[in-house]
Amino acid sequence: MQKLIELTKSDKCKDCKVCCIFPEKYPNLKPNGLNLKKTGDNFTCEAYEPETRRCAAYQKRPFDCEIYPFAVAKSEDGACTLLAIDSLCPNYEEIIDKLAETDLTDLRYPEGTEIAWENTFIPLRVLKNNGNGGSKLNMLSPEDCFFFRSYFFNTGKLSSLGFPYHMIWTQTTSYFWKIIHGSFCLFSKTGKDYSLPLPPLPYSKEACNECALLLAGLNGCSFTVFNASQETAEQAGKDGFMARKTSEEFLYKRIALAELKGDNYKAARWLCNVFEKNSDISFKEYRPTDLNDCAGMLNTWYNHKVEKTKYENDLRLLGHSLKTNRAALSMAAKLGLTGRVLRSGANVAGYTFGSAISEDTFCVYFEITNPSFKGAGQYIFRELCRELIACKYINTMGHDGIEGLERAKELYKPVEKLGIYTITI
Ligand code: SF4
Ligand code: SF4
Repeated sequence: MQKLIELTKSDKCKDCKVCCIFPEKYPNLKPNGLNLKKTGDNFTCEAYEPETRRCAAYQKRPFDCEIYPFAVAKSEDGACTLLAIDSLCPNYEEIIDKLAETDLTDLRYPEGTEIAWENTFIPLRVLKNNGNGGSKLNMLSPEDCFFFRSYFFNTGKLSSLGFPYHMIWTQTTSYFWKIIHGSFCLFSKTGKDYSLPLPPLPYSKEACNECALLLAGLNGCSFTVFNASQETAEQAGKDGFMARKTSEEFLYKRIALAELKGDNYKAARWLCNVFEKNSDISFKEYRPTDLNDCAGMLNTWYNHKVEKTKYENDLRLLGHSLKTNRAALSMAAKLGLTGRVLRSGANVAGYTFGSAISEDTFCVYFEITNPSFKGAGQYIFRELCRELIACKYINTMGHDGIEGLERAKELYKPVEKLGIYTITI
């Protein structure tokens, strides 16, 4: 824990009034062994010195105080003990950023110091499994990117292994997690229906069987697991489940897309040149100040597409795209999305968002271009690929049954098409 305690030290503490002062008389985070006294509208720890804003018991302060804003807490379902961070601390996002370089594998904490879960806690790592916790599930929220990645990063090349893939649906879908037989199980709930948007990780027959029982108890839902890889589907088949291929995703070599060399890429190269010739180009990292301009361009794109669309299914997919793109634009940083905005002069010609799903694979989740700028799509894709020098592969997801999209993705010459399977009983 000493490494974590170092991370808690911040200049922000000087002007912050979150620690040591509580809005309620019996807070969950009450310092163990110390009393609170009423001060105005709040309750203050008896060891807190308001004049100096120091802790009189600093050398012997309780473990909870020592590690705050980290906390060792029982999960909502009670099935495990977690290292969490309290989002009430104004410094929590910076601390999470630094955690990427901190080894969290062997954290020791004094036995019996676990506290109850608070709504403001963000899970970081499971420290101990305590049982199955019954049918209760733990909520997964858009703040939980670090926790999700600690399980799924580097476990494959499918887009669903990235946190944004799921969290852009939080307007219509709720997400939950549970550790079952040591596997991370992700649940989603749309309306009254629960399902698994990913197979348990690591995959195991025991975890699947337990999930099936749990789903049956949750509004009588049947066991359906989406987004399984071919490898997992094959193993599930051997374990007596049914696995059916539902779609596929396109995987490319990044270097080929960055260079666009040879006859295969003649058309894409030409379109990049057209855009370059006719535009006053800037290609920059997406910032919150780009939101309004990008949202305006998204509306233009949507209206243009709706006008040209004849099929009901395509219209439905366009509606989904509009919703998920809006979510990406407003929650990009929280979801761990890397974004780029392409402008010609002051006008947004396009934007793109994606995230790394493993050390060598980047997934492009969104790319929207202004229909008034010919070649903007080809240009923005090439430039993004040129920047991602640490990645070997680019996943551009599937085609959703849209013929034109499938043709366009084929033209870029995928090195592989990754099968996506649904597993049922
Ligand atoms: S809440 Fe965070 S920033 Fe504020 S005093 Fe406590 S540790 Fe420091
Ligand atoms: S023991 Fe010290 S650090 Fe803990 S709440 Fe009291 S004053 Fe604050």
